[in-house]
Amino acid sequence: MRRHDVAIIGAGAAGLSAALVLARACRDVVVLDAGHPRNAPAAHMHGFLSRDGMAPADLLGTGRSEVRGYGGVVVDTTVTGIRPDPAGGFRLTLTDGRPDVPARHVLVTTGLRDELPAVPGLRERWGRDVLHCPYCHGHEVRGRRLGVLGGDPGSHRYAQIVRQWTDDLVHVVPPGRLTADERTALLARRVEVVEGAVDHLVVDDADHLRGLQMDDGCVVACEALFVPPRFVPHDALLTGLGCDVDDRGWVVVDGTGRTSVAGVWAAGNVVDPRAQVVTAAGAGSATAVALNADLVDDDVRTAVRDLGPHTGPTRPHNQIEEDA
Ligand SMILES: Cc1cc2nc3c(=O)[nH]c(=O)nc-3n(C[C@H](O)[C@H](O)[C@H](O)COP(=O)(O)OP(=O)(O)OC[C@H]3O[C@@H](n4cnc5c(N)ncnc54)[C@H](O)[C@@H]3O)c2cc1C
Repeated sequence: MRRHDVAIIGAGAAGLSAALVLARACRDVVVLDAGHPRNAPAAHMHGFLSRDGMAPADLLGTGRSEVRGYGGVVVDTTVTGIRPDPAGGFRLTLTDGRPDVPARHVLVTTGLRDELPAVPGLRERWGRDVLHCPYCHGHEVRGRRLGVLGGDPGSHRYAQIVRQWTDDLVHVVPPGRLTADERTALLARRVEVVEGAVDHLVVDDADHLRGLQMDDGCVVACEALFVPPRFVPHDALLTGLGCDVDDRGWVVVDGTGRTSVAGVWAAGNVVDPRAQVVTAAGAGSATAVALNADLVDDDVRTAVRDLGPHTGPTRPHNQIEEDA
């Protein structure tokens, strides 16, 4: 198989934006994608200028077409490993028995997984009326009776942010988690606080969330529930290559998306849990520009080497013409 200039793992917003820039830079690009973008459970995507309200699948479908329109290749498959190639660059192993994919550089845009509290019914309603990001979906439920499920340090602050979208908010936390100051700050903004453990979600016959069944028998009413998940990056390909991680365990990239391993790049949620679709797309695009510059440097080194030994200083082009 021919060696690609760049193999991109992940065809979400970050990967496809990078692929578009690189394909338009006349690079040989292959994008390998397992087909599970993070926002797939949501019917609509918000906050992306000029694409607000679009279905997530439509954005990515359009992106794939644009990449293919410039000669980029997009393949549905899962990458299980990346290893340095003794011949230079890297070789990618795929799940489905396809041959390894060789590439000069790799860009990992594999996103992250949202780990939710172990409350029955939460996962099934994720992206519908169980939500994580008020900037993505808060406007659609503004003014309604909303809940915030807490527990982790900082969840009171998250509740204060969700309060921006409604005057009717309840913050449900396990007993004893809030400090006196945190409780005062919530009550000062008329956020109701309920302390207790959630047993399961209450859903009506029309399949709408109605509240939280607490294990003491009470029901806490709400029409949508905000839940801060634990973000788990899909970074095994990067850590397997030995990329440096920070003290939280997240792979480190510089401002251009470069990891600590030469030729290995990363962008989007896999290295930045705060990235939304538009910022993941921006990071992918910016990384592609830096990556292409690195390939150009490499192309220059190769061209000079292939020129072979020559004697004397190089003369300017116009001087050669005058001599002739
Ligand atoms: C329910 C929900 C709703 C959201 N709504 C919004 C919204 O309205 N607006 C907004 O801006 N943001 C929203 N987000 C956030 C948004 O999903 C992310 O910002 C965005 O998906 C990040 O893009 P990404 O390219 O980094 O990763 P992703 O979009 O997750 O893409 C990663 C891709 O890599 C693939 N992949 C992973 N591992 C491999 C592998 N080993 N081999 C091959 N492929 C692999 C995955 O299958 C996936 O297709 C929402 C998130 C959730 C959970």
